Amino acid sequence: MTSAVWHPFFQHATEPDPVRAISTEGAYIRTDRGPLLDAVSSWWVVTHGHNQPQIVQAICDTAGHLDQVIFAGLTHQPAEDLASALVGMAPAGLDHVFFSDSGSTAVEVALKMALGYWKHEGDGRNRIAVIEDSYHGDTIGTMSVGERGVFNAAYDPLMFGVDRLPFPVGDRSNTLDAFETLAATGKMAALILEPLILGAGGMRVYSADVLAGLRAICDRHDVLMIVDEVMTGWGRTGRLWACDHTGISPDIMCTSKGLTGGVIPLAATLASGRVFRAHHSTDRRRTFYHSSSYTANPIACAAALAQVRLWQASPMQDRLDALETMQGERLAGLAEDPRFENPRQCGTIAAIDLKVPEGGYLSEVGPRLRAHAIDQGVLLRPLGNTVYVMPPYCVTAADLDKAWGAIASFQV
Ligand code: PLP
Repeated sequence: MTSAVWHPFFQHATEPDPVRAISTEGAYIRTDRGPLLDAVSSWWVVTHGHNQPQIVQAICDTAGHLDQVIFAGLTHQPAEDLASALVGMAPAGLDHVFFSDSGSTAVEVALKMALGYWKHEGDGRNRIAVIEDSYHGDTIGTMSVGERGVFNAAYDPLMFGVDRLPFPVGDRSNTLDAFETLAATGKMAALILEPLILGAGGMRVYSADVLAGLRAICDRHDVLMIVDEVMTGWGRTGRLWACDHTGISPDIMCTSKGLTGGVIPLAATLASGRVFRAHHSTDRRRTFYHSSSYTANPIACAAALAQVRLWQASPMQDRLDALETMQGERLAGLAEDPRFENPRQCGTIAAIDLKVPEGGYLSEVGPRLRAHAIDQGVLLRPLGNTVYVMPPYCVTAADLDKAWGAIASFQV
């Protein structure tokens, strides 16, 4: 097949031709190789299921009368309604909503808000603390606050320096003590983290106590806490937000992926009154100078609002609890299998490592498992030798059997 398309995270020299998607419905993608169970929610975006009818309807209704309008100096009902709904659902104190269009831009906005805050407060704080192995996106700023490695080595000259905290192990004091020391320097503008689980960093799980401990240190030393809920938000960890496991509120929170149920791109960065007020001034130099052409696209906002309404109208918590149980049962089925190690779960997300001589992202086992799963009618996307199942919430028990069956039948 000849194609002009340059695919993301795809080695055209070695990988077989991409699978061609034809249509989507529920937990499935119909393709030229037959139906595929979307066990990775199409890069973690699809929450309720593909082509969720109310979301699709909202898109069609809005597209018929209101398409893109400039969002600087103009506003519209879908954005207004969505912003107030988000404020009502988000951790307490996040009262201001800034729209953008991807997880990466939501994080870039968060970083700019944090640095802007300290600049406008007249304080010289400009260091950012991060947790090792984190992932926050692929733009220069988000790569800078993420883990360095094969993904971004070529761009190193463009990236800025950050202070890295070790991933929590044992009694977790390694992370908390390291942060306490850094925060006490008085130079830390913000801490940015993925709450409870590092996604692209290998589905590494840590406890809600650490999150609460880090919040307490931020409070003690006046460091802004940025929580990146781009992957974890909208139920993945078993609660609406990962932050809900502890009741903490960040100063800034990023959401995208499941915001529209995974149907259309949109992102939002929510900020506390304190962060907003630092930019609110008769001095125009304090304006928050960030935008993108499609900021708050009305069609995307309407889709997100329909998605939000699903949370408000249906017993989503029951669905998440049931999925968490089903995932746990299937993961337990592989826990004693000598080919696997490190079974772990965070809400609806379950992961396990394949025991191989060469681990890491470039482990050759990943592409082989992916190809094997496609033959079994399942879309998986291992992170090196880590395989995970993160399905849309509409999956059935039989679907999950199929996904985990594909993993179990793989010859390492
Ligand atoms: N933050 C986290 C935690 C993510 O997992 C991702 C994407 O996987 C991003 C940010 C970047 O999102 P996007 O790919 O929409 O730019």
